Amino acid sequence: MPVVPHRVRALDRAAARALDRLAEAAEVLVPVECAVCRAPGSSLCRGCRMLLRRSCARPFEASSTAPLLGPCLPVTAAGRYAHELASCLLAFKDGGRTDLAPVLAAGLATALRAAAPSWPPGPVLLVPVPTAPSALRRRWFDPVLVLLEDCARRGVLPTGTAVAGHLRHRGGVLPGPAQKRFGRAGRRTRQAGSLRAVVPAGARCVVVDDVLTTGATLAEAARALRAGGADVVGAVVLAAVRPPAVPLTADSRPAPPGAGEYRL
Ligand SMILES: [Zn+2]
Repeated sequence: MPVVPHRVRALDRAAARALDRLAEAAEVLVPVECAVCRAPGSSLCRGCRMLLRRSCARPFEASSTAPLLGPCLPVTAAGRYAHELASCLLAFKDGGRTDLAPVLAAGLATALRAAAPSWPPGPVLLVPVPTAPSALRRRWFDPVLVLLEDCARRGVLPTGTAVAGHLRHRGGVLPGPAQKRFGRAGRRTRQAGSLRAVVPAGARCVVVDDVLTTGATLAEAARALRAGGADVVGAVVLAAVRPPAVPLTADSRPAPPGAGEYRL
């Protein structure tokens, strides 16, 4: 993976300034605290911000830890789903902490720019995995799309790329509890056919998501885009869950009790 580009470091500084301004403005109405350690005074304190930056500084290839991903889909992750990155992502997605978008977008931009040299030359569409309808009703925003749009506004997307919301959930396919409550066979079954894509034929696409666990979601996104006529050349995620102590495989043989669970 290449060294973090200068423009991404500039984005990180800009994200820190944006967080400070947001915190100053918001604290007039509501006391602001660090999303990780709860220190008062800022959305992300200096120490946690530094640790978050470090956790996303060395993107890596993560597809080998996702047993349901299937072949031919390289995945670049900005960092591991743990510690500061996991805390910030959870707070952003489910805790109403949209003030963390700039700093998370900086991490995603790092991964995108690290992955871009491996893509074939020419225009590439960055296609976010859409939030499930039930989660969208709860959150009122689409986290991955918001992060990508933040990157686009700051001009830190890789050259030749554009954000394109070409994926949609098919209505009623994923009702009920979040998929992380299901086992691997259940995830694969529930994901299959859950997405559809309307995409220009032959378009070169990269799927973008927030967290990589088993890979079932990315596999379904890639399937839908390919079924729509796109050429899917890779995927990028903000965070990859650390693989379980007992490796999972794509088959559905039962794992020993307490083993093989992804740590979400
Ligand atoms: Zn902190």
